[in-house]
Amino acid sequence: MDWMEREKRCILQTYTRLPVVFERGDGCYVYDVNGRKYLDLVAGIAVVALGHSNKHLTDRVKEQLEKLVHISNLYYTVPQIELAEKLKEITGMDRFFFCNSGTEAVEAALKFARKATGRKKFISFTNDFHGRTMGALSVTYKERFRKPFMPLVEPVEFVEFNNADDLEKKVDENTAAVVLELVQGEAGVHPADREFIKALSELREEYGFLIVVDEVQTGFGRTGRWFARDHYALSPDIMTMAKAMGNGFPIGCCAVTDEVASKIEAGDHGSTFGGNPLSCVAALATIEYIEMERLIENSDKMGRYFADRLAESFENVRGLGLMIGFDVDDAPSFVKNCLENGVIVNNTSEKTIRLVPPLIISKEDIDAAVEVMQRIS
Ligand SMILES: *Cc1c(COP(=O)(O)O)cnc(C)c1O
Repeated sequence: MDWMEREKRCILQTYTRLPVVFERGDGCYVYDVNGRKYLDLVAGIAVVALGHSNKHLTDRVKEQLEKLVHISNLYYTVPQIELAEKLKEITGMDRFFFCNSGTEAVEAALKFARKATGRKKFISFTNDFHGRTMGALSVTYKERFRKPFMPLVEPVEFVEFNNADDLEKKVDENTAAVVLELVQGEAGVHPADREFIKALSELREEYGFLIVVDEVQTGFGRTGRWFARDHYALSPDIMTMAKAMGNGFPIGCCAVTDEVASKIEAGDHGSTFGGNPLSCVAALATIEYIEMERLIENSDKMGRYFADRLAESFENVRGLGLMIGFDVDDAPSFVKNCLENGVIVNNTSEKTIRLVPPLIISKEDIDAAVEVMQRIS
């Protein structure tokens, strides 16, 4: 019996997987159990920003692995404090709560927003994605994900993305927070308009709600800046991050301003694993490597180059940095054909392809990928 048949008998079938079993990775390349090589333009869904098997990260994590893996938040640990200090520099936020995934970061954000404002209502947007646990699911748009699990957290209202008039109609004095992605990822890479974000900031002045920016997918250089908010004149009250944060080590974070922090007390939230020394060192090593190798610059430069090359042959090429979307007639077949030709891409719908490659990607890799995509389409 092969691996795929064995999986079908023991794993809960919540995923639709492509027919390939991966074994190891090196930089922008991964290898399946038969030793076949693939160019990875998905990077574990915008996670493996430094590429696979990064030596700096491996060395730092190995050292910590032999020292101390876990001790809990009953005590202080050095890596957690060092990581928070580093995040302060690169995020512009003041205080940090560590967890283990994107959805957990959003859960924390919703709790902190309610506690800080004393209000209940959340606003989110059409096609936003914020995670799969009950709270995060409540501010996720897709009916298919929500419906079987109702009732969810209430009240939540959805505003049409990039529609300032609709936003103005739905926010009020009962709004605790507006939760948004600055570049919608799971929806197929759609950036927010500058004017719309300006209107959002102005409405915050008027009504006193909090702005929660979900940077789980856009963070850590993905869009050609440290965070997507750096492209907009926007100061969030709360920011969530995860995906690329530990380059594959599970870690998430909910960052807040001092003002929000002043309303949070001991016991308001917690996590057994959150901020453990191993994942904090992985995150520190990830940030260090992004800085050392100027990967944010590379994300910006290669993102533009990639988008330009794709625009030669594809419709609606869009995105920021190395977060790129474009449209094809039959996205599921496109993904399969790419895979058969040694290139890993992802589709977010029947028509849309999303590319979120490692930030270390080179021109040569991009040219090779474009050549395959042009040939098969
Ligand atoms: C992936 C994602 C999440 C959920 O993260 P998980 O680690 O899968 O729980 C939340 N928000 C955004 C914007 C995401 O892209």
